[in-house]
Amino acid sequence: MKRIVAFTGAGVSAESGIDTFRDSGGLWERFDIADVATPEAFERDPETVLEFYNERRRKVLESEPNPAHRAIAELEEAYEVVVVTQNIDDLHERAGSNHVLHLHGEILKVRSSVDPELVYEVGKEGIKLGQTCDKGSQLRPYVVWFGEAVPMLEKAAKEIQQADLLMVVGSSLNVYPAAGLVFYAPHHAEKYFIDPKAEEDQVEMSGFRAIPEKAGVGVPKLAEQLLEKEARE
Ligand code: NAD
Repeated sequence: MKRIVAFTGAGVSAESGIDTFRDSGGLWERFDIADVATPEAFERDPETVLEFYNERRRKVLESEPNPAHRAIAELEEAYEVVVVTQNIDDLHERAGSNHVLHLHGEILKVRSSVDPELVYEVGKEGIKLGQTCDKGSQLRPYVVWFGEAVPMLEKAAKEIQQADLLMVVGSSLNVYPAAGLVFYAPHHAEKYFIDPKAEEDQVEMSGFRAIPEKAGVGVPKLAEQLLEKEARE
């Protein structure tokens, strides 16, 4: 079975109603990274940070997977598919994808401040200041903040190195080190970049075929072609 890696960013969830970060109207127009998404911000003002993520969590729980998430899941009918996502929502899982690697954590989980291995599920009630882990430290969002290490990076690089086909969907490829992962694709792999802002001549994307469309349109089209191709072979 051929292996497909879908590398997804905030854009794949945009049509589900979850704001991206950098587009106009995106989250960073309303919030400052330094105030809500760094370890220093959490030290300075944990209440604001917790409320920011509680709100993101509520939003995710109100959202549904869109045709792009579903098309990626359907590729499992004929391919081995691994999703490497920068997203913290669970829309790939809810669409039916079975192998999802979250580079930047998961919004429906929280973790201990002192032990990253102590992870708990959390619902729409969220977490408040004073709620602690089994070791007595404040619970924090299970997300990777700017300035923190990305523990899944090596595992994700290995998956991409073994891909026969890589599709990058809805990412500005601005957030490093995650964005650098696309360079791990083997030379022979087919490569696609689906994003309304995708451009054929983006230097850093050489070798990629640009599909400048919304994920909900571009991904189902590509997935249909790939499933037809596999059925013919
Ligand atoms: P980004 O906000 O930097 O870029 C979003 C990209 O999505 C842009 O290139 C934009 O052109 C594209 N886009 C917008 N609408 C689209 C659509 N309908 N279809 C396809 N593409 C569309 O996001 P990023 O590159 O993922 O990096 C930012 C960080 O934001 C990541 O680390 C991620 O963890 C975090 N984030 C996650 C979520 C989520 O979990 N859903 C939401 C916002 C941000």
